[in-house]
Amino acid sequence: MQCPICKKPVDMSRQNRFRPFCSERCQLVDLGTWASGGYEPEGADAEDHEHPDDSKKRRLLH
Ligand SMILES: [Zn+2]
Repeated sequence: MQCPICKKPVDMSRQNRFRPFCSERCQLVDLGTWASGGYEPEGADAEDHEHPDDSKKRRLLH
C-alpha cells in the first residue's frame, strides 16, 4: 500500500493511526485539500456589499 500523498510505502498495521497515509503530515495535506476545495468565502452575501458595516450594526440593534 502506498501513501496517496507522497507515494511512500505505508505501514497498514494498527500501529499506524494515520492510515491510509504514511504520517500525520500527509493526512493533514489530504484534509487540507478537501477543505480548500469545498470552501466558500464569506463575501458571498451580496446584501452587505455596499455598506457592510451599517448592515452589521443594524442586525445587532434589531
Ligand atoms: Zn505520505
